[in-house]
Amino acid sequence: MMDLFEKYKDCPCCKGFVLNCEGAICDKLGLCYCIQKDLQDRQN
Ligand SMILES: [Zn+2]
Ligand SMILES: [Zn+2]
Repeated sequence: MMDLFEKYKDCPCCKGFVLNCEGAICDKLGLCYCIQKDLQDRQN
């Protein structure tokens, strides 16, 4: 499984590893905030 997402590799928080981000908030969510935001936007 490839955890590095090209689209998010510029994220200063996870550097593309959206599923393995250790940020305080991201760790709770299980995903980095950068992809969380994208997923929410897509629902609208
Ligand atoms: Zn991120
Ligand atoms: Zn993060």
